[in-house]
Amino acid sequence: MTLAEPKLGTATHCPYCALQCAMTVTGHTVEPREFPTNGGGLCQKGWTSGSLLGSPARLTTPLIRVDDELVPASWDDALDLIARRLTEIQAQHGPDAAAIFGGGGLTNEKAYLLGKFARIALGTSQVDYNGRFCMSSAAAAGNKAFGLDRGMPFPLTDLADADVILLVGSNPAETMPPFMQHLRRAADANGLVVVDPRRTPTAEQGSLHLAPAPGTDLALALGILHAVVADGLLDKSYVDERTRGFDAVWRIVAQWWPERVERVTGVSAADQRRVAGMLANARNAYILTARGSEQHASGSDTVSAWINLALALGLPGRAGSGYGCLTGQGNGQGGREHGQKADQLPGYRKIDDPAAREYVAGVWGVPAESLPGPGRSAYELLDALGTEEGPKALMVFGSNVVVSAPRAGHIADRLAALDFLVVADLVLSETAAMADVVLPVTQWAEEDGTMTNLEGRVLLRRRAVDPPAGVRTDLFVLNGLATRLGQPAHRFPDDAETVFAELRAASKGGLADYSGISYDRLRAGEALYWPVPEADHPGTPRVFLDRFAHADGRARFMPVDHRGPAEPTDAEFPLQATTGRVLQHYQSGAQTRRVKELNDVVPEAYVEVHPDTAARYGLAEGDWARVSSRRGSASVRVRCLASMRPDVVFLPFHFGGKQRANLLTNPALDPSSRMPEFKVCAVNLAKEQS
Ligand code: SF4
Repeated sequence: MTLAEPKLGTATHCPYCALQCAMTVTGHTVEPREFPTNGGGLCQKGWTSGSLLGSPARLTTPLIRVDDELVPASWDDALDLIARRLTEIQAQHGPDAAAIFGGGGLTNEKAYLLGKFARIALGTSQVDYNGRFCMSSAAAAGNKAFGLDRGMPFPLTDLADADVILLVGSNPAETMPPFMQHLRRAADANGLVVVDPRRTPTAEQGSLHLAPAPGTDLALALGILHAVVADGLLDKSYVDERTRGFDAVWRIVAQWWPERVERVTGVSAADQRRVAGMLANARNAYILTARGSEQHASGSDTVSAWINLALALGLPGRAGSGYGCLTGQGNGQGGREHGQKADQLPGYRKIDDPAAREYVAGVWGVPAESLPGPGRSAYELLDALGTEEGPKALMVFGSNVVVSAPRAGHIADRLAALDFLVVADLVLSETAAMADVVLPVTQWAEEDGTMTNLEGRVLLRRRAVDPPAGVRTDLFVLNGLATRLGQPAHRFPDDAETVFAELRAASKGGLADYSGISYDRLRAGEALYWPVPEADHPGTPRVFLDRFAHADGRARFMPVDHRGPAEPTDAEFPLQATTGRVLQHYQSGAQTRRVKELNDVVPEAYVEVHPDTAARYGLAEGDWARVSSRRGSASVRVRCLASMRPDVVFLPFHFGGKQRANLLTNPALDPSSRMPEFKVCAVNLAKEQS
């Protein structure tokens, strides 16, 4: 790796969420930069992100476990050990005994090279990533409905002209505050409707807040669609000309009249009809969904239900209106396009498609028959670790599964059962602390790379500062391991721009076609939304205006029905717990818990509970409570909130140890996306005995 001289004022983008706010980094100082998505703003996480660059918590040398202690080692010794152990384990148990777990925060280049490393250097099918926990249900639903999954198929700034926006299961006032400026016009026109079981800071800003019981918003979408049809608001010409499948949907929706839906969801029939009228009568309207809809065992169907509503109203693919999914992780969109998913190859190609295998194998210079087939999805992969049938070795990049995976106590046990665990990270996360080898890697402002933001716009993150001595890039790690495993070095370049050039070729002709994008075009400031199939193609800010991506150009209604949460409440576990984020922290908190300004504000986990519910369990504000599910218990501080539903409690999922919300969560999987049901599980409360 060549080290760059420190530069003053490098234009780059935030290390955290999918808004990818623009910033200028000077040394370890961050300033916001004007850009369409953030309008010159940053949230607290972005403003304080520079402190991570000089953080004393950074890892600066590889660590190897010796006699149950992690001790410093040289890079050569660490990489030699990894290559030797992976070779031994695969020789004994077969290629699938080694597994890779990636992340939705990795750059496009890392995601691409990680998938290639798994399939070629290791020859394993066992590769997946934490985006499976994050956006996979919307991806599955988008592919079914539109034939293409570009989360937001229009630029964010289009939202500024909307009269009505229905925001489902999203809390951007905390997760991505600069996004709220795009909702202002709708909010000012009394047209911002927020669907969330909690009265979040976003719901506070809405003109109407619908609070369905957790796990029932599929039913709510059916009820609003019923009202659309019953009140004569269906956009019949759009349905006839641009879609297929409405009749099958109506056969189900006809059974879900608003009064019946009210009994299931708790949302009044009057509010359902009001929302139907608001959406249908608006000049410009949007429906946006996020994790609240997706993270369910019926998450794909739930998103499909909201897309059905959007199609019935004629919103998708119409200028000034639409449906979109708000991705969460920094590269949530790009992370799912380049081959780190168990079932995919670069260009958003299916790994079991013979033509796709032939094409990608040609780019990689290997026989198509040498590429493994689809592997286990994220939770299934983690659940199988160390079992007789499952992988015996795991390498983790950009993920902290001990905190972020559902049924986290069980997942920690599975990691402990491995013969060999490697973690590449910036800091000693909870997962890294369990590893046999820890590799200290660069972070956002210390490396070049591209990210694809929530709009499908490809952005260049630039290297602004040198990393600490002893730290290397993930690309360096993959190159060093691949060559030790017998691959030619040129097949695994450690330079981001060179990797991107190959990614372009591998994506050509795929759904997510990046072949016309280059670092030079990005450096020149071009706004390039994929697909960009030629070097002189201007990009595609709005993808569905003329036609949808199915062969006949029409969108598909999907017949879906309400199922409810996978885990019912009962006398032993009478409350429903839901989980989410807070303003000051990001994902597993591995980074933000190490930023003093953020951690001082929210230093510990808590449970939000209605005061009457708290009193019923002998709990008061500030007490420590033990929240228990069928899978484990978390110890968290009590916060009493009168706005909570009495039957629901909320826990943020950013904290480690006994405060992990995911000790409770249910790994029931969506049959289509394989996403776990993070958003609802049955729990009880008790006072924590100190
Ligand atoms: Fe912007 Fe998200 Fe970074 Fe906050 S965390 S500054 S909203 S990109």
